[in-house]
Amino acid sequence: MEDSYRHKGMRRQLVKVLQSKGIKDQRILDIIGKVPRHFFFENALVEHAYEDKAFPIGAGQTISQPYTVAFQTELLDIKPGDKILEIGTGSGYQAIVLVEMGADVYTIEYQKTLYDRTKVFLPQMGYKPHFFYGDGSKGLSRFAPYDKIIVTAGAPTVPDALVDQLKVGGYLVIPVGDQKTQQMLRVTKTGENKIRTEVFNDFKFVPLLGSDGWK
Ligand code: SAM
Repeated sequence: MEDSYRHKGMRRQLVKVLQSKGIKDQRILDIIGKVPRHFFFENALVEHAYEDKAFPIGAGQTISQPYTVAFQTELLDIKPGDKILEIGTGSGYQAIVLVEMGADVYTIEYQKTLYDRTKVFLPQMGYKPHFFYGDGSKGLSRFAPYDKIIVTAGAPTVPDALVDQLKVGGYLVIPVGDQKTQQMLRVTKTGENKIRTEVFNDFKFVPLLGSDGWK
């Protein structure tokens, strides 16, 4: 698939939309202006790639809305070299944004077809996060602790395992609510057994499945 001037123009428009919705981090805006989101779309949907909307990617899952990707990434306050766990690889678009921010990214996906596809496609685009297949609702303890954890599916509660796998001072950014609407939370691990939780706006995610998700 090609990345034409027309696509680049549509990306610039998308960046303006995200700015108008309050995204301020110039690094994130530059990355969204650079990464060809239409590469993640099947042919019939390519024309919609630069709308600020979530779209189907197969296996009943979605590529997140660009605003949501930008908002969650802003909340993570990424420093180059941060070790980040992403739960819900999906299309890999969010993982690319994290890699472009300079993070060392561990990403886990529950749907085998998406895992198989994204594990091949991202390296073809030049991005090599660490890919894992399985239930990420309990995190990925083998490689813990992490500086930051991002959950890209809606959880019923904050899984304890994810807080356990954070470094002290680290952030967990996670949408929590029912299966229709979730509030975006940023949980800061302030001490070995202490957290502080900030609550942000409502979002609509596909459900987090698995043992600490919606089963
Ligand atoms: N970050 C993705 C992107 O950029 O395309 C968002 C994909 S979608 C909104 C959420 C993803 O979370 C889906 O691919 C879904 O299969 C995955 N998911 C749901 N429950 C999961 C779990 N327990 N462990 C890992 N992935 C899970």
